[in-house]
Amino acid sequence: MLQVNRRGKGKTVLVAGGAGFVGSHLCDALLARGDSVICVDSYITGSPDNVRPLTNHPSFRLMKHDICQVLEIEEPLDQVYNLACAASPPQYQADPVHTMMTCVAGTGNLLALAERHGASFLQASTSEVYGDPAEHPQQEDYRGNVSCTGPRACYDEGKRAAEALCFDMLRAGRVDARVPRIFNTYGPRMQANDGRIVSNLIVQALSGKPLTIYGSGMQTRSFCFVSDLVGGLMALMDVRPNPGMPVNLGNPGEFTISELASMIRSMIPVRTGIVYKPLPKDDPQRRRPDISRATELLDWQPTVPLAEGLGYTVEWFTNSLGGIARQQST
Ligand code: NAD
Ligand code: UDP
Repeated sequence: MLQVNRRGKGKTVLVAGGAGFVGSHLCDALLARGDSVICVDSYITGSPDNVRPLTNHPSFRLMKHDICQVLEIEEPLDQVYNLACAASPPQYQADPVHTMMTCVAGTGNLLALAERHGASFLQASTSEVYGDPAEHPQQEDYRGNVSCTGPRACYDEGKRAAEALCFDMLRAGRVDARVPRIFNTYGPRMQANDGRIVSNLIVQALSGKPLTIYGSGMQTRSFCFVSDLVGGLMALMDVRPNPGMPVNLGNPGEFTISELASMIRSMIPVRTGIVYKPLPKDDPQRRRPDISRATELLDWQPTVPLAEGLGYTVEWFTNSLGGIARQQST
């Protein structure tokens, strides 16, 4: 049984998807401020390695569980974060039915858990609810341009349904639910092979392979460093009163994919070139968050510029890929 930190001010917090990229940084930050953390994960895209350094912490517990199944927790919970869902397009499209069920049945199960415990709930939503946006930058009031039948629908429509569930539970007074819409986030502990742009380009450059650009490279994204995002997630969970509406969390700096590739090439001495591959179906052309709501309600804005955050990420991949290469050669 988890040693619940009831003597101090710390809360008991469940983090679903806590062994993933963002979730593991959230677990670190919650423990650092004195909370007790129950990390629940199926390891479908995450790994216990991401939270290995925490496993001896007296206020940390790791549970293997798929949130599509009902979850019972004995100790009283104060907060439930739901980050459980594959986030990289190749990964969430690998088993699209499971992705949709994770978003809908999984979020339903965790909302029910939060309701039983009277816990506050935060659902990791996404900029993908805006689809290939016809409005730019994206404000929360924009209703989006999403295909409900395309290959991204399992994720985009799943996350939209999860938002609807949260706001239904909130309106009914059953769960204190909060919904951040997260824009592209990067940093240490991204998986080397998850297929996302930042991990792909850094790993390709470090291993001397050509950088892959899909389409013309003129499509844009806005990249948020993971520590900035985690600060925003915690601020939204803790703010009183509940804003009662979705809140964009992301870095408003907007870069083309070609610009990102140039930045990474300038940080890693690569001698290889660029290969252009077809743009995946329904790939959004432009994306940039309007974060006025987060700034106003949470007094939050990102502080890590892209060049600085990429520097930390390149350093982390350099060390972790070096470690893997050393293990393979022994
Ligand atoms: P990730 O794939 O690294 O982490 C997701 C974690 O959830 C993994 O550890 C995975 O094993 C776990 N998981 C998936 N399905 C599960 C299930 N059914 N039951 C239990 N565990 C399950 O992805 P991430 O980048 O850390 O994303 C975390 C959350 O943030 C996701 O919900 C994602 O949709 C959202 N998000 C992330 C980004 C981003 O750029 N990183 C952008 C928008 C939204
Ligand atoms: N992309 C690319 N090369 C890659 C991986 C991705 O050009 O090796 C493109 C992808 O088509 C998209 C952008 O980079 O236009 C961001 O892709 P990612 O999968 O990171 O996130 P998302 O599409 O979900 O924003």
